[in-house]
Amino acid sequence: MDIINLKDNPKLYYVGGVVRDELLGRESLDVDIVYEGNAIEDCTSLGEVVRINPDFGTIRVKIQGREVDIASTRTERYDHKGHLPQVEKIGCSLKEDVLRRDFTVNSLYKSVATGEILDFTGGLEDLKNKKLRVLHDKSFVDDPTRIIRALKFSHRFGFALEENTFRLQREYLKNINYDMCYKRIKKELIETLGLNSDEVFQKFINEKIYKLVTPKDVKLLSVKIEPLVNKYAKISENIWLIYVGVLRDLSRLELTRKEQKILDDFSELEDFEFRNDFEIYRAFEDKEIESVILYAVLKEEKIARHYLENLREIKIEITGKDLENIGFKPSPKYKEIFDFVLAKKLENPKMTLADEISCVKENFGD
Ligand code: ATP
Ligand code: MG
Repeated sequence: MDIINLKDNPKLYYVGGVVRDELLGRESLDVDIVYEGNAIEDCTSLGEVVRINPDFGTIRVKIQGREVDIASTRTERYDHKGHLPQVEKIGCSLKEDVLRRDFTVNSLYKSVATGEILDFTGGLEDLKNKKLRVLHDKSFVDDPTRIIRALKFSHRFGFALEENTFRLQREYLKNINYDMCYKRIKKELIETLGLNSDEVFQKFINEKIYKLVTPKDVKLLSVKIEPLVNKYAKISENIWLIYVGVLRDLSRLELTRKEQKILDDFSELEDFEFRNDFEIYRAFEDKEIESVILYAVLKEEKIARHYLENLREIKIEITGKDLENIGFKPSPKYKEIFDFVLAKKLENPKMTLADEISCVKENFGD
């Protein structure tokens, strides 16, 4: 992970995930670097400046074609619990900077110049014991997104919440202040439930982490979501919504139009009483795949599976052109004919185009 040009600077430190991951022998998703001091004042000469954010004291520089984010050490205060913190001081000591972090294992610093590791919070010990530990008792009250982050990290590394941290989580979830920043909650939900894991989901429900989203009670359901996603929606960017959709009440999350459509499509399906395959096919064919899986989970797994496994691929081949050739003038009757052929083909999927044409002639001929 070494970025050569920065090595001369003794005030630069790798921090957070990148240090943790290296100690665990894992690839890092991104690199966080912190400068002990004011990075905006002191780090512009390290490379071409791409972006500066004075409110947070962060700077992005391009070094040898690679963009690197450098944060100033800073202290933060949570005047408005559950919302973005106020930056108090930019350019503090590392010892002060560490206090704003989430878990001890995410609070290790590694000197870019010497490789020395600085551990102010017992992170190395917790890393060894596979424990997630908050830095102080008000941590979840300040920022409840950390509860979802803990779920994410515990799954990724097989870590457990340390006892007191678990107690603090339970206490917070019994007494949630719903006036919080749901944009951040949503971002963590996307990352965490997007991992497509029934194990994560089980914890999400059983530990009542879902209460961050809705005060309503929710029970774990018997249908497993993970295999359904693996089979039918592996590349969906809305996997998280299949899991969180189980809560039904997502009013706090400010869904995008596409996300809302997934829930609306599901509601539409939920209201149907299906009498035959034709009705199932017509109801499901234009619905989002995530909505179909939600239907399997929340309503009738059998019907959704029947659609996905047996009906979905069936398509009639006959076209308007074929009908014209048989002698039908274009008219609304075409729809009736197509529906009829589809209903027959759902009963007998082996029908060829020739079979479909005969079927029309037999049933709609003079
Ligand atoms: P990942 O591998 O997912 O990137 P990470 O630990 O690097 O894990 P980031 O979201 O990149 O996580 O954040 C970088 C660091 O910033 C964290 O390691 C942690 O020290 C701090 N941090 C991030 N989010 C929070 C938060 N909500 N509260 C406190 N500290 C946080
Ligand atoms: Mg990171």
